[in-house]
Order: sequence, then C-alpha cells, then structure tokens
Amino acid sequence: MELRKAEVLGFCGGVRRAVRMIERELEEGPLETLGAVVHNPRVVAELERRGAHVISSLEEARSGRVAITAHGVGEKVYREIEARGLELIDTTCPIVLRAQRAAASLAEEGFKVIIFGEADHPEVRGLLGWTKGSGVAVLDPTAPLELPRRAALLSQTTKGAELFAQFVGRFLEHHLGRLGELRIINTTCPETGRRYEAAKELSRWAELVLVVGGRNSANTRRLAETCARMGIETHLIEEAAEIDPRWLIGKERVGVTAGASTPDSAIAAVIQRLEELAGREVLAC
Ligand code: SF4
Repeated sequence: MELRKAEVLGFCGGVRRAVRMIERELEEGPLETLGAVVHNPRVVAELERRGAHVISSLEEARSGRVAITAHGVGEKVYREIEARGLELIDTTCPIVLRAQRAAASLAEEGFKVIIFGEADHPEVRGLLGWTKGSGVAVLDPTAPLELPRRAALLSQTTKGAELFAQFVGRFLEHHLGRLGELRIINTTCPETGRRYEAAKELSRWAELVLVVGGRNSANTRRLAETCARMGIETHLIEEAAEIDPRWLIGKERVGVTAGASTPDSAIAAVIQRLEELAGREVLAC
C-alpha cells in the first residue's frame, strides 16, 4: 500500500499563530477563550488541560484574561472586554482582521454589507458585528433581499475564491438591476483554496482518502465533500482510533488530508496507524 499526504494540509497560518499565542500566554497563567480556539476537540481539550478554559460569554470570565479566537469578534465585544476591565489576548487572524476592516469602512460609507457565509459561524457573526447593523449573511445569492442603492459583497474567509465567484455571478444576475453601486471585496482566504486544490490533486491519485479533523469544523467537512465529489471513497475521522481496517482492504493508494484546524500530532497519529495496519513503512511523501 502506498500512502500519500496532501501537499497542503492541517493548521493554516492563522490557527497556528492563534494556538502559539495562547500557549505563550498560558506560561503566564490561566485564561479564558471566548469560544473554542479552533474547531478541533483534541486541541481544545489539550489547551483546557493547560489552563485555557472555553467560555461562551464574557460574564463567565474568571481569570481576568480573555482571548479572542482567530475567527475574531464584533466591535461590541471589544467594548465589553474593556468595560469589564479584562486583559485582552487578541488572536484574530490578520486575514479576518482585513475582512473586518473592509466591513466596517463599507458600513461607514453607507453600503449594505452582504456577507456570503453562514450566519451562525463565529467569523461571520464577528464580521456582522462591524457593520453597524447594516450587514446580512446569506448563502443563497437568489434569496430575496432588501437592497438600498449601494451594496457590497464580502465572503466568509473560508468559503474559497471559486465559491465566492459563483455567488457573485448569481447575485449579479438576480439583483444588479436594483443597485446603483456594487462593491465586491474578495475576503476569501488563499489558505483555504490551496487546501481544496491539494485535496483534489490527492483524490485524482488515491483510491481512499482519509480527512482528519473535527466534525464541527466547516472547512474539514468541506474538504471531505470535495474528495467525495471526486468519486473517491472518503472518510472524515477525528482521530487515528476511528480508522476501520476494513476500509483498507484492496486499496493500493491511500491519501491523507486534514482541515485547517487539525494539529500536526493528529495527522502524524493517523499516518502511524495506517503504517501499522499496512505492516510496514509506506509513506511516499
Ligand atoms: S483559514 Fe485563513 S482566514 Fe481563517 S484563520 Fe486560517 S489563515 Fe486565517
């Protein structure tokens, strides 16, 4: 059996940076994180063990130090942190920060900000929190919308440029006639696209693909969908123990990829388990 990892997989730059920042801060003592630092139960449990407790509201903050995750938060949350006198550890990803700034300045200029994304995703909630109430999150570009003369389109960073382009195209078909001015800001993250491209490449080669990551991670689920759409047997697993040896029967080429919130240690454990099941060192690259 030949085993291959996707060229790009696992932690993206933003998540890696956020986890490192939290780890550094933990050397100074315990802290709370407003929401999970990454959508990966394994990483969250390890950080929790070291003193980073996940809270869902600032009222629960006990340590006096609170970390904002890579997904970022809205303007009101910063104000509340300050009002409560909490020390802020801001791990917002710089790419998300750029999207927040775009949302804020467009709202300031009087544009209705339309965000292509899931309304309940933490990053989208944060982006909406910079639009002074003028923002809305939509997934369906044909959905009926109250539109003023000026509108702007932004994307949840993890949607990827390809999906955003499709969204923009259909949005134009349906709504352009009602608009006087439309701004389009490409706030997609290149890291996401690179992961999908690498997963597709892997799927062209493999007979079986294992996608490692949290089931609560939207981008991990989409990676799995991407591979499955290529017609390849695909399994999303959170850890090595979930590998069913029967999946490997008759497979000569097995690929491994991982979501942007999956730590290197989880990927290494999956590779190790596959090697054990294959009974020899098989990693090709
Ligand atoms: S996927 Fe991109 S935008 Fe999101 S945290 Fe990672 S680097 Fe930042």
